[in-house]
Amino acid sequence: MPVFSELPRIGGTLVWYCLICKRQVWLISHGVEADKEDEFLKLGRLIDESSYERVRHSVSFGDSKFDLLKEEKGVLVIGEIKKSSRSIEAARLQLAHYLYELAKSGIAARGELLFPEERRREDVSITEDLQSKLDEIYIEIKDIVVSSCPPKVQECKYCKHCAYKELCWS
Ligand code: SF4
Repeated sequence: MPVFSELPRIGGTLVWYCLICKRQVWLISHGVEADKEDEFLKLGRLIDESSYERVRHSVSFGDSKFDLLKEEKGVLVIGEIKKSSRSIEAARLQLAHYLYELAKSGIAARGELLFPEERRREDVSITEDLQSKLDEIYIEIKDIVVSSCPPKVQECKYCKHCAYKELCWS
């Protein structure tokens, strides 16, 4: 397991997982590979690659990777694509994290959460409330990451489709 001389930078994926399962935050940040052949991971990649083909995909910015990037009426728009709106609060905060990171660099942007299978879209703007929530999440992530062992396995509604289920439950 890696020993961190400095804390890993926090990307949107860690923000997302912090709201889904704390154990996943530890596993990912410690380089524990998920099962890449997991059917739900494959489905997620397929939806990412085949949706919204007219805009730029997978654009890196610092430690973040935006699913979509486009410009509308002179405004930068960041898109985050999800398989379903089941975890919409986590998705909202992941996207808010990207907007917050951009704002810290002086770049104004708005966000769009996209659920192509549900033909649904939600606009997200960074607010003081979201910034405060994110500041708390960053502290929580750092506490998990520096811990020498992962949080205990706790069954939750995400286990069934989690790429770590073999690791946690066998
Ligand atoms: S299987 Fe469950 S407990 Fe294990 S990492 Fe996935 S969501 Fe978390």
